Amino acid sequence: MQRFYIVEKEDQESKRLGQKIKDALILNNKSLDATHPQCVISVGGDGTFLHAVHKFKHHDDVVFVGLHTGTLGFFTDFEADEVDILIENLVNSTPIIESTPLLEVIITQDQIITTLEALNEIRVENIVRTQEIQVYINQEMMEIFRGNGLCVSGQAGSTAYNRSLKGAIIAPGLDVLQLTEISGIHHRAYQSIGSPLVLPKDTLITFISDNFNGAKILYDYHVLDCDNVTKVEIKTSTKKVNMARYRPTSYIKRLHCLF
Ligand code: NAP
Ligand code: MN
Repeated sequence: MQRFYIVEKEDQESKRLGQKIKDALILNNKSLDATHPQCVISVGGDGTFLHAVHKFKHHDDVVFVGLHTGTLGFFTDFEADEVDILIENLVNSTPIIESTPLLEVIITQDQIITTLEALNEIRVENIVRTQEIQVYINQEMMEIFRGNGLCVSGQAGSTAYNRSLKGAIIAPGLDVLQLTEISGIHHRAYQSIGSPLVLPKDTLITFISDNFNGAKILYDYHVLDCDNVTKVEIKTSTKKVNMARYRPTSYIKRLHCLF
């Protein structure tokens, strides 16, 4: 690869390491390209990696690699003290590409349809009042949910917000969608499934409500007001994030950064 771009977290250590990578790449006759890079290097945490993905997700030929300046993350394969190994790999090696699908959300608001993507999860959340949501799985009515909201994640996001909602951690290689409740109300009058629901990757999940006003649609770190939204459809996107793997990393080792 010849053209690189570096996305850094805003702290001194990430900036220092980012600069070190930039200097080494230039020294090795590589170029830095902010518009059409072949490889994007994220220096920071999983959050920084998410920002890098959102910046370049519209280019299908970009690959991503992460250097973590905290502990090993889920999207980051190199730790801070391994920066020289990363540089050596960037300059001399060809990575194996592992693709992870994005999630797609199709929002109907004022009869206008908007499509957005996320890597970790898509949530509909209302922290002000009880949000009622009719949930359809492949156009089939499943339940009427009442509570703060619902979260849909894929394998990649299973260790993020989904985990806080007591959703299952999904191992790499299992391409699924997971629907989890956010503070669901469960009593004699209001009933919904309660448990996280793991579905095949080609499932269409639809949320319908007479009143989404005051709710938000959150997709990774982005947020959108739900006023006048009538329908929210979520599925696996045909777009993918290409991860550049220069060496194998054990998923079990990654799990150790969670506890
Ligand atoms: P952020 O500070 O960038 O991320 C919040 C935490 O989630 C950070 O510790 C981050 O790791 C970690 N994280 C992100 N993606 C992950 C993944 N796939 N697996 C394991 N950990 C992951 O916060 P933000 O900018 O508001 O939101 C970005 C993401 O944070 C969202 O997509 C959501 O999944 C997650 N989040 C979780 C909760 C929660 O669990 N209650 C609340 C808000 C947001 P690093 O420290 O390595 O960056
Ligand atoms: Mn981290």
